[in-house]
Amino acid sequence: MSLVVVSNRVARGKPNEPMTGGLAAALLPVVEYSGAIWVGSSGRVRDGHQKEPFAEVEALGTGALATLDLPAAHYGGYYEGFANSALWPALHSRSDLIRVSQGDYRSYREVNAFMARALLRFRKNKTAFWVQDYHFLALGAELRELSVDDPVGFFLHTPWPVPAVMQGVPNHRELIEAMLAYDLIGFQTEEDRQNFLGYISQDLGLTAEDGIVVSRHGRTQCQVFPIGIDAEKFAQYAAKSISHPDVSRLRKSLNGEKLAIGVDRLDYSKGLVNRVSAFDRLWTEQPNLARSISLLQIANPSRGGIEAYGNLQNEVARLVTDVNGRHGEVDWTPIRYLNKGFSQAVLAGLYRTAQVGVVTPLHDGMNLVAKEYVAAQNPADPGVLVLSKFAGAANELDTALLVNPHDIDGMARAISIAVSMPLTERRMRWEAMMKKLRGHTIQQWSADFVATLEACRGERAAVA
Ligand code: UDP
Repeated sequence: MSLVVVSNRVARGKPNEPMTGGLAAALLPVVEYSGAIWVGSSGRVRDGHQKEPFAEVEALGTGALATLDLPAAHYGGYYEGFANSALWPALHSRSDLIRVSQGDYRSYREVNAFMARALLRFRKNKTAFWVQDYHFLALGAELRELSVDDPVGFFLHTPWPVPAVMQGVPNHRELIEAMLAYDLIGFQTEEDRQNFLGYISQDLGLTAEDGIVVSRHGRTQCQVFPIGIDAEKFAQYAAKSISHPDVSRLRKSLNGEKLAIGVDRLDYSKGLVNRVSAFDRLWTEQPNLARSISLLQIANPSRGGIEAYGNLQNEVARLVTDVNGRHGEVDWTPIRYLNKGFSQAVLAGLYRTAQVGVVTPLHDGMNLVAKEYVAAQNPADPGVLVLSKFAGAANELDTALLVNPHDIDGMARAISIAVSMPLTERRMRWEAMMKKLRGHTIQQWSADFVATLEACRGERAAVA
């Protein structure tokens, strides 16, 4: 059976470029090794009715990458509008940030329908479609409208909130009902799956048995597939990139001082304000730690056209300036704050240089940075991960120092414990996490999903 993977953005696999986010980072090796066709937006738009929407089709490992120009009239309403100003805040339990303009939902549905029509080009005798993330909640229903009877699955990379939060999204009932056209819906955690099933029961009046919902579309299986990483690749990158100029310059500049690292898209879900406040608290309460631990915070800007992101960028920049102004010395900068991205090869070297990894989102589907930080450590002298209990990764990485990102004092305490943790404890915690990462790779994640998708479509056919 051939596999078509669909997401809003794709990655080109250029080793020197930063990834746009966790989804692209995760899918790249899947496509490279599985021979799938990966379809996504080119990032450009086009006017009018396009006979041939595909901008490019190119080889990617044993698979292929196909990018298409989305319709200009609907792109804004779809991407910056409904997807990122209604669904993203809701999925991260930020109802206060939901903003919708008239026409956004229609544009979102138009783009989903447009993508469905475009996908028909890649349909072969036996094809499975695997749709990724919140940009395309209704794509399965649109494929069914076009009489596609193949297996169609969906994986959500973000969290799914409690029912009351989804009820704040305009047209939520119609949209979530449309999701039941998928044969399989995958979630990062059991909590996300339960929240989804809670909505299905409360708002749609449907019950699930063993995670299977029966609706007018047929059967939909809801299952948890926590996403993994290629831990060996990160370990190799980390060992090699020690000699990369960015990494060696960083090492030289430290003068024996310890380093904490944060690597995030500049997004309100990542808890950057609370994290910087925790370091402020740490240096205020324990002035002896000034000069002995500093923070390197990489905050790669994203979604700059959306007001909430512009506001956040200003807020974090102001706070960092304030903290540096108060705690800095002529020869010591407490926080190095960088608004740019790095390639994963360089990131791995930066992770390995830092004795503490701080990953403290308020909500996160999984958070791949947490896993990458662990995989990049030197086995003989591993660093300590300080991890939010609200990141999906906390389910597996339970020997990290787990923190509540709303508790500034608690985070400051955890950072202080991490800085002085003895080697034996660091190794014990790190080995337990590494074992889990090695036991659950990104290749296994995709193989599990696709095998389950094919099996549950088979069952649906048998019932019909
Ligand atoms: N990343 C990158 N360069 C950067 C920052 C991040 O390549 O400068 C990658 C990082 O290695 C990770 C992904 O982007 O694989 C971020 O994924 P995560 O799940 O942590 O967060 P998301 O951005 O998807 O919310």
